[in-house]
Amino acid sequence: PLPIVAIIGRPNVGKSTIVNRLAGDQQAIVHDEPGITRDRTYRPAFWLDRDFQVVDTGGLVFDDDTEFLPMIREQAMAALKESSAAIFVVDGQTGPTTGDNEIADWLRQQEVPVLLAVNKCESPEQGMIQASQFWELGLGNPYPVSGIHGNGTGELLDDLITYL
Ligand code: GDP
Ligand code: MG
Repeated sequence: PLPIVAIIGRPNVGKSTIVNRLAGDQQAIVHDEPGITRDRTYRPAFWLDRDFQVVDTGGLVFDDDTEFLPMIREQAMAALKESSAAIFVVDGQTGPTTGDNEIADWLRQQEVPVLLAVNKCESPEQGMIQASQFWELGLGNPYPVSGIHGNGTGELLDDLITYL
């Protein structure tokens, strides 16, 4: 089976936009192998010579147990567990939030390599400044990207595939 990359982050940071950017219009994969949970959607993607699949997750919120949030949290954790690498998406226009810090604390305790994508960085110059605010999350190099326009995704993917 192809390696899985989980897309993780709080609501509205642009996770689904990035999944669409990575997977293009390729159709979702239906898994027949046992052990794969069916209620996550896997989208095929590739970069250079490397094929993989991306799994989108719901907005992750740790300090709130209302509605579906605990279920979304379990799904995100399950997705991470089966992944070879994760992309943690944050919002470059808001800067780091308490929610981002809580997710980062959790991710740092996992075994899975994490790449930190600072989304909504449309301007390359501004993007470097926006991204540098996220060093405080303790997850290494923040990659400025724009899911909408595609800037920065090449650098992110170049490094992502080294983990696959
Ligand atoms: P999700 O909840 O994390 O899956 O986020 P979505 O992909 O649904 O996007 C949430 C909002 O952010 C939408 O209004 C998007 O249009 C917007 N958005 C997503 N990516 C970008 C981006 O690269 N730049 C900007 N400016 N807005 C974005
Ligand atoms: Mg989404």
